[in-house]
Amino acid sequence: MKTEIEKVSKPEEYWRERLSDEEFRVCRQQGTEAPFSGKLLHNRESGVYSCTCCQAPLFQSSNKFDSGCGWPSFDAPINDQAVRYLEDLSHGMVRSEIRCATCDSHLGHVFPDGPPTTGERFCVNSVSLIFNNQQKSGD
Ligand SMILES: [Zn+2]
Repeated sequence: MKTEIEKVSKPEEYWRERLSDEEFRVCRQQGTEAPFSGKLLHNRESGVYSCTCCQAPLFQSSNKFDSGCGWPSFDAPINDQAVRYLEDLSHGMVRSEIRCATCDSHLGHVFPDGPPTTGERFCVNSVSLIFNNQQKSGD
């Protein structure tokens, strides 16, 4: 059975107040952080990557791979409902934009040149993600 995601819909001012200038530019205005600048690009810890805006879980460290493209890359989202896809015709290219399915935050783009596991490369701005370390059970 398909579970419906509970949407978060907030006016622009709500995000403007809560996000940094860079977060607002990337997440709410479909911006892109400079390549190789992101804080999560070389993160290899185990855990979950969540949405900067609404904290919905989006990607897992087990799906992260080093694509060399300059942004954190994943071969799949955490589940089918976590992200939504939009056709992006800007910059003279046809690309699939990916957004948080919960709050519509811009994440990045998906390309069909990923590793053999899925064949897809989810290229995501670090700014759009919050990393949470996996809780390690003590026993
Ligand atoms: Zn979100």
